[in-house]
Amino acid sequence: MPTPPSPARVFFLAPLPAGDDQGAASIGATISEADALDPRLSVLDLGASRGDGIFETLGVIDGRAHGVEDHLGRLVRSARMLDLPEPHLGQWRSAMERAVASLPTTGQGSLKIVLTRGIEGAGTPTAWIVARASTSDFAERRSGIRVVTLDRGWPLDIADRAPWLLAGAKTLSYAVNMAAIREAKRRGADDALFVSSDGFALEGPTSSLLVRFGETIVTPSTDGGILPGTTQAAIYRWLEQQGVDATYDTVPAARLAEADAAWFVSSVRLAAPITAIDGRTLAIDPLTDGMNAALLAR
Ligand code: PLP
Repeated sequence: MPTPPSPARVFFLAPLPAGDDQGAASIGATISEADALDPRLSVLDLGASRGDGIFETLGVIDGRAHGVEDHLGRLVRSARMLDLPEPHLGQWRSAMERAVASLPTTGQGSLKIVLTRGIEGAGTPTAWIVARASTSDFAERRSGIRVVTLDRGWPLDIADRAPWLLAGAKTLSYAVNMAAIREAKRRGADDALFVSSDGFALEGPTSSLLVRFGETIVTPSTDGGILPGTTQAAIYRWLEQQGVDATYDTVPAARLAEADAAWFVSSVRLAAPITAIDGRTLAIDPLTDGMNAALLAR
């Protein structure tokens, strides 16, 4: 069995319907802890056999999970988009606290929280959290990443036109996203920037896009079938405090040639400055260090 990059613990949540008003003590009894390498997931689980489920990844810094409520809000949003049972937020908060407590109190790590449709035919979801300490030095926060644009194959209005494609839900079906990163690497880059079939920049396979044009920072509007990023939202709160103009808009891919700076932002890697888009180089913006410092200090 392959060894994960660092020891990981898993916390299973026994199904608890939202609104079930259990006391904190009895909620604790619905959460069980194991080694993440223990064989615990059924081969009949629809999360494993069909990617039918949702997830969230949170950064943990010095023993504190970041953006807990933002991630839970997005978990609920994804659950509704997939017609999954409403998550019991008290139970998730409690399991997250236990998962964070299993990590070192200094350094960086992550929580991956997963909710699947459960075992085929059983009608109850499967839910767990994996807590893992990070072994990365996150050098790309300083050195940057090169990206290439890749066609996502659907138009900007996909979410309205075909909601069953689940554009903008954080589903477990990330095989396409991972394939896009491999394609970007084959093309000599580090990461991919998805572009809609009608020519608008969207997001990365695991991150949100921020672009600076002159004095304004723009992120693609989240009604374009992309994930509303929790890190992007946190950076926008900080930019507002700094008096920097930051907006949501459509970003025509052709306009990227005029960008003064750009970033891919996400919960664990935080703000990675983009140093090239399709081979056109970009300088690392001095705001980058401030963004990362603010995210780390949350
Ligand atoms: N977009 C996609 C497709 C993602 O998978 C992610 C994170 O994994 C993001 C954006 C960034 O979201 P967050 O900042 O909440 O991590």
